[in-house]
Amino acid sequence: MMNIKRNVLLNPGPATTTDSVKLAQVVPDICPREKEFAGMMKSLREDLVKVVHGNPEEYTSVLFTGSGTINIDICLNSLLPEGKKILVVNNGAYSSRAVEICQYYGMPHIDLKSSVFDVPDLKAVEQALADNPDVAVVYTTHHETGTGVLNPIREIGAQAHRHGAIFVCDTTSSLGMIPLDVEKDNVDFCMASAQKGLMAMTGLSFIIGKRAIIEASKDYPKRSYYCNLFLQYDYFEKTGQMHFTPPVQTIYSTIQALKEYWAEGETEKFARHHRVFEAIHKGLAELGFKNVIRRDIQSGLVVSVLYPDDEHWDFDKVHDYCYEHGFTIYPGKISTTNTFRLCSLGAIDVKDIEDFFVVLKDALDKYHIKVIYNE
Ligand SMILES: *Cc1c(COP(=O)(O)O)cnc(C)c1O
Repeated sequence: MMNIKRNVLLNPGPATTTDSVKLAQVVPDICPREKEFAGMMKSLREDLVKVVHGNPEEYTSVLFTGSGTINIDICLNSLLPEGKKILVVNNGAYSSRAVEICQYYGMPHIDLKSSVFDVPDLKAVEQALADNPDVAVVYTTHHETGTGVLNPIREIGAQAHRHGAIFVCDTTSSLGMIPLDVEKDNVDFCMASAQKGLMAMTGLSFIIGKRAIIEASKDYPKRSYYCNLFLQYDYFEKTGQMHFTPPVQTIYSTIQALKEYWAEGETEKFARHHRVFEAIHKGLAELGFKNVIRRDIQSGLVVSVLYPDDEHWDFDKVHDYCYEHGFTIYPGKISTTNTFRLCSLGAIDVKDIEDFFVVLKDALDKYHIKVIYNE
């Protein structure tokens, strides 16, 4: 066994991995065009559909080489029919990224923007759909990783379907952690990358969605070659392979990560992330730190913490001290408020959080930082 230093990543992915997942990458060289490799990808694709409780007749998964953003790009550019519009229900940085993608491709879209500190207003979604019968795709983010807000996707999906639109949901930072049932949750397409909820490595992303819709998209406008959903799906169906070179080692580690996912169990894993999240809140409260998001709309995976007002507060110094001691903390992603984030993703448990707060307290003492807020 190799001795690999264990770092506790409290950033919102890539997440802390087990040694067995790290080591799963060290395998004999293989050409990914071999049948053996195609067979591995076939069961990986089937497993991914199971993670979200999709009926395998109706749902499929399509793999891509790239970080999670490739999925957002692919779904949006591939699933919009000619003459139709995308409605982006936007209450955070990740849905704003979807809006930027629409802008880059020049695709007709509505940016239904609302406060990043709250869930979207379902009445506004209803109104936008009523006013725009040409909306063919409703898009939102399940867990807005920038703030930690969890969005009501089941309701938004139902609204999309009532108005004859498909529902695409960015589940990158919830899949494999918060139980998702694509049928009950009214999700036509969801997505993630291997390094977040599944606790594997970077470089593999996947879209899980309805076969019939992918097949119907064959004749939709083609806006990208490398990032076209039908083209990749069709290649998989015909040959069992990715159209272009897959991230071979990441695929091995993802297969190992999925074995560990089934061994831990969906409910138990969700419970573990939740107790880690509770431990983060407890440690923060003991030091006097404030949250920026209401507790009842938090995902249970990301805590956004308000910077203290003490003049000695210096995020970079605190970060560097924690980093030297094996803990990674992460800046916030809210443009109007200074925050940092502590996340409960990855192969970590309550003990890691307790150890982290000892280190954080040392950092505060070392730099004479008081956790105080003016007002
Ligand atoms: C991490 C993440 C992504 C993908 O980000 P990449 O940097 O491209 O991996 C997309 N959406 C959400 C909600 C995320 O948390």
